[in-house]
Amino acid sequence: MAKKAEPRCTICGRPERDVNILFTGMEGSICDSCIENAHEVLKQTLGEDSNKKSSKKTQDDVAKHKIYKPKEIKAFIDQYVIGQDEAKKVMAVAMYNHYKRLLNPPQDDVEIEKSNIIMVGETGTGKTLLAKSFARLLQLPFAVVDATVFTEAGYVGEDVESILSRLLQSCNYDVAAAERGIVYIDEIDKIGRKGDNPSITRDVSGEGVQQAMLKLLEGSEVLVPPQGGRKHPDQKMVKVNTQNILFICGGAFEGIDKMIARRVQTSAIGYNAIKAGSELDRANLLQYVNAQDLRSFGLIPELLGRLPIVTYLNPLDKDALKRILTEPKNALIKQYKKLFEYEDIQLEVTDDALDYMVEKAIEYKLGGRGLRAICEMILTDAMFELPSETNKQSIFNLDRQYAQEKLERSKLGLISAA
Ligand code: ADP
Repeated sequence: MAKKAEPRCTICGRPERDVNILFTGMEGSICDSCIENAHEVLKQTLGEDSNKKSSKKTQDDVAKHKIYKPKEIKAFIDQYVIGQDEAKKVMAVAMYNHYKRLLNPPQDDVEIEKSNIIMVGETGTGKTLLAKSFARLLQLPFAVVDATVFTEAGYVGEDVESILSRLLQSCNYDVAAAERGIVYIDEIDKIGRKGDNPSITRDVSGEGVQQAMLKLLEGSEVLVPPQGGRKHPDQKMVKVNTQNILFICGGAFEGIDKMIARRVQTSAIGYNAIKAGSELDRANLLQYVNAQDLRSFGLIPELLGRLPIVTYLNPLDKDALKRILTEPKNALIKQYKKLFEYEDIQLEVTDDALDYMVEKAIEYKLGGRGLRAICEMILTDAMFELPSETNKQSIFNLDRQYAQEKLERSKLGLISAA
């Protein structure tokens, strides 16, 4: 009897034993790698067409949303972010213009440029929170990335393209959605040029990264490794068009106040401009920040050219910190009250206790971020004990004395006492 021929892939001719899976049909068979190849070709062929469709989809999606006016945008952000009125105003206008840009593709010579933003402000003053709140209102995909993890291609670290991998991950790899998302790049000040003479050592995590970022910021087609990290030849890439992605950069730019002071005092234009309007506010020089100062700090002019909107955040004073504890929609004290409520206990926090927490946040120089740690240290014991108590009290009173007692015994208290 004749030996039965081994089934083979009708496309590539490989026998069943040489492939992972062979799918057999009525007239022939196909192996797994031929299916994969066919899928790739299909994606690329359709991809060209889908770029055009994607731009139309962006407009349709945007048109479906309610378009908020700048004042409405600010009013929404006010519910989450305390103070920082100037930054809110500047960003509300930028967001509004961004929407106009998405809705009206260029028809004549007047092309509205992207309003990428750079924010300067001490750590913990609300930069990330601002960017996050805007993304929430506009219902756009949003990702936060840290500029310090990137290095120039070929060195240890991540490729800048993985900035877009995070954005893709945030919207489940929906490329069309990612292409109109918002990316917040934190610690942009840490990639400042390290010195004026780049020939001594290659500045792979400073100027090298800035150069690599240019392509992303200006709006072009970028090949992105879907899982992030370093690109490698065997990896499948996703093509992302950054034309409508809004980039917001933020950094503390420690020491930039001295550069601002030097500029406003030496430049006739700067000094006179301020002198004519009002007194120079020496306590908060950040409000005068401009691209020239950022350049002195080490950002290259090409990068600054792609970040046309410069704004600043004020340092948080006692009043602002106290408001942060109680006023925002998801204010910390509101969150703790809710947690206690689940135990049928009413949490009462005295005004004096709030003052104490704020004083400590200022003392530890932690900005708004420190308030969470302080609350946690003060309330952990109560949250540990109360749920197991048999005769639960109905009200838990948090006053200054209790707060002080708990915080001084905590790690933070011990460190600061040392
Ligand atoms: P930054 O990015 O400037 O370092 P964040 O935005 O991450 O600071 O702020 C850290 C936390 O501090 C926020 O999650 C928020 O709880 C609180 N916070 C800081 N600034 C503000 C603010 N202006 N309004 C409300 N909460 C704030």
